[in-house]
Amino acid sequence: DEATSQKLTELAKRRGYFFQSSDVYGGVGGFYTFGPQGAALKGNLEDAWRGRFAVEEGNMEIDAPTIMPEPVFESSGHLDTFDDMLVECPECGESHRADHVVEDNTEYEDAESLPIPEVEEIVAEYELVCPSCGAGLAGQAIDDFNLMFATNIGPGDSQPGYLRPETAQGIFVEFPRLKEYARNTLPFGVTQIGRAYRNEISPRRSIIRTREFTQAELELFVDPEGDDPDLSPVEDVPVRLYPATEQQNEDGEILETTIGEAAEEGIIASPWIAYYLGVAREWYAAVGVDMDRFRFRQHLAGERSHYASDCWDAEGLIDGNWIELAGFSDRGDYDLSKHAEGSGERFTVFRQYDEPQTVERASVDPDMSYLGPEFGGDAGAVADALESLAERDREAFSGDVVEVDLEGKSHEIPVEKTGFAVEDETIAGEHVTPHVIEPSFGVDRLLYTVLHHAYAEDEVDGEDRTYLALEPEIAPTFVGVFPLQSDDDLEATADEIAAALRAEGLSVTYDDSGNIGRRYRRQDEVGTPFCVTVDYESLEDDTVTVRERDSTTQTRLAIDDLPEALSALRAG
Ligand code: ATP
Repeated sequence: DEATSQKLTELAKRRGYFFQSSDVYGGVGGFYTFGPQGAALKGNLEDAWRGRFAVEEGNMEIDAPTIMPEPVFESSGHLDTFDDMLVECPECGESHRADHVVEDNTEYEDAESLPIPEVEEIVAEYELVCPSCGAGLAGQAIDDFNLMFATNIGPGDSQPGYLRPETAQGIFVEFPRLKEYARNTLPFGVTQIGRAYRNEISPRRSIIRTREFTQAELELFVDPEGDDPDLSPVEDVPVRLYPATEQQNEDGEILETTIGEAAEEGIIASPWIAYYLGVAREWYAAVGVDMDRFRFRQHLAGERSHYASDCWDAEGLIDGNWIELAGFSDRGDYDLSKHAEGSGERFTVFRQYDEPQTVERASVDPDMSYLGPEFGGDAGAVADALESLAERDREAFSGDVVEVDLEGKSHEIPVEKTGFAVEDETIAGEHVTPHVIEPSFGVDRLLYTVLHHAYAEDEVDGEDRTYLALEPEIAPTFVGVFPLQSDDDLEATADEIAAALRAEGLSVTYDDSGNIGRRYRRQDEVGTPFCVTVDYESLEDDTVTVRERDSTTQTRLAIDDLPEALSALRAG
């Protein structure tokens, strides 16, 4: 519920997960600092993602700059189309995302997929008001607002640059080099974990919508005519799907199915997307997203990005709202074609045929001496026009004359002067522009969801307690080590244990302040899965108490066995 979010935000600040940044100067919306626990949790989530989506899948990871020059975003389409709908309040002057104002106030759940005039109509019809001051918004013009942060590279303003709005472009522009590392063989995948920047009109819901955030993206380059992936490793993965067709129904239902069935029935059309939805579902469960509060939703046609032909979102339920955690899209050949066009470089991979093939090739060899002054002396342009026509349309050369268009004027040229010929040619393969399958994860939203779904309250020994039931694999602090009381011998033993556990690579916190119950509560709130307490018995028999967070059960273990036993528990 709403209350959980509030309590979580308070806990996050108190215990060092995250808080508003630059607070001493009043702060600014949409920027957060991860404290010691938050930074560690984020690092663990990134490592877990890297382990699954880069290492285990055999993909390459790169690390590209966050600022890129303007031509990149001219080609990618972000300069023209990476916009949100902005409405400004006539009273208080605050700006809001118009589709959010609509979604929050009416039954419309997909205002993002509506065009501006329709959103304007809805704002007027429902007499929607400014979320900040309550003034009426009807009649306000709604504008496109580009979400990219602009900057200048070097002194002066001759070299505009932009902070990347997604990590993906840093991969696409390096494709000609990356394909060499992949030895020109499809499919291959490239991952990147890094910051992305969007000048969100209204950042909100804590770290769920910020202006600087971290993405973990995989761009998989596939041959559009290549083999489908083997779905057998994921076919039995259970999934809850909300396809576009269901969303358009009055009583649209979430389908409980498996990846295998959904792929077979064509509900998930792309086998590659089906594969990654299966991998992602298992991975999200492993890092602690509650599968009862998780689903995949297909984008409605009008909601898709400028490049995507099909898109599914992973969504987590938070305070009754479904929040997008990741997007899985088929970007087709959009990005590589655009960068090829914009840069003049080759963004293709050579597809070698199993056996050389014979094809008919049309060619021209025009007799330039024939050309008169009517062509302005530009014989080369005529040759080029004839050549491209021969490639496109052999029929054009079937009569006595062929028509070519030059600068809007049509000219008739006798076919015998063009040297037109069709000959057999043997070719070993062809250049293909790969298609891109993109699983794009938001790390901050994941972190928030993991904390939210881990948040729990119960009663221990008649006292209320709050704890975070984080998965041991990703918990920022893995074990707390406490001497029972202030005592030199207890403290010395506890110090030794802490050092031994750290040497094992475990994240340890040592705490000797306050009564033992308070120390346990502190670690419960941080989400530390285990606590080790050194007491007077320990000094006699070399054993300690190991307390498990969720059940609060306590077991005695030999000090010598601790490093190995706890490491095994972390691995799960
Ligand atoms: P939204 O519709 O919520 O604005 P989007 O569809 O524009 O998100 P994508 O472009 O698909 O998001 O980005 C991929 C992922 O990056 C998202 O699933 C999300 O986890 C994360 N993300 C996007 N924008 C933000 C943001 N402003 N703050 C935090 N994370 C974000």
